Amino acid sequence: MTDSSATVRPDRRAELAAGLAQVRARIADACADAGRDPAEVTMIAVTKTYPAGDVLALAGLGVTDMGENRDQEAAGKAAEVAAAGAGPRWHFIGQLQRNKARSVVRYADVVHSVDSVRLARALATAAADRERPLEALVQVSIDGDPARGGAVPGSADPDSGLEPVAEAVAGAPSLRLAGLMAVAPLGWPPERAFERLAEVAEAFRTLHPGASALSAGMSGDLEIAIRYGATHVRVGSALLGMRSTLR
Ligand SMILES: *Cc1c(COP(=O)(O)O)cnc(C)c1O
Repeated sequence: MTDSSATVRPDRRAELAAGLAQVRARIADACADAGRDPAEVTMIAVTKTYPAGDVLALAGLGVTDMGENRDQEAAGKAAEVAAAGAGPRWHFIGQLQRNKARSVVRYADVVHSVDSVRLARALATAAADRERPLEALVQVSIDGDPARGGAVPGSADPDSGLEPVAEAVAGAPSLRLAGLMAVAPLGWPPERAFERLAEVAEAFRTLHPGASALSAGMSGDLEIAIRYGATHVRVGSALLGMRSTLR
C-alpha cells in the first residue's frame, strides 16, 4: 500500500515523534507546576486537515485519542484508519449540525460540542442503537455569547441554557453526560477564560457528580488549562504542524 495516504514517510514519522515528545513534556511540566498527576490529563491529537497516515503514525507512537472537527473529513478518515487496523478513540470537537448526528455517532466515541437541547436530542436518537452510550460533553460559552457556540451558564433559555442542555443529555439513555468543554473566547486572556470555566465546572459537578471531564486547552494555552483543571487537552498544530487553513 505504498500509494495509500495511510502510510507515512520515515521523516514525517520522526517529525510527529518529535512533536509528540515536546507536547508530552509540556503536559508533564504543567502537571508538575499544578501539583497534578499527568495520568489525569488525556491528550487528544487534533488531526483535522492531516491525512489518515498521520493518525496511524501517531497511533503507532502510542497516541490513543484523536480529534476532528468536521464530519465530512472525519468520517472518511476514521474509516480509512479502521481499515488499516487501528482503533483510536475518536473525539468530535467541532460545531455540529443536527443533520450530521447520524454520521458522527457511527465513528465518534465522544462528542465535545453539544450546545443545544435540539442537538442533544438529535444525538440521542442517532445513538439509540449503539452498543455503548455515546460520551457527551456540553460545550460552554465562557463569554455568554451563544452566537459563537456553547451553552450559556445561568441562562434560562430552554434550548441553549447550560442546565437544560445538561438535563437533555443526562436524561437520554443512549448518551452519557461526561463533562464540559470550552474554547477560550477570542480576545480573552486564557487565564481569565479558564478561571471562569473552572468556576462553572465546579458548580456543574455539584449538580452532576459523574460529569467530571473538562476539555480545555489547545496548542497555545494547554498549560493554563491544566492549571485550571483540564482533564482533556486538544492539541493540533503543536503536534502535527501549522495548518494552512484557519480551522
Ligand atoms: C483545531 C482545534 C483545536 C486544536 O487547535 P491547535 O491550536 O491547533 O492546537 C482544539 N479545539 C478545537 C475545538 C479545534 O477546532
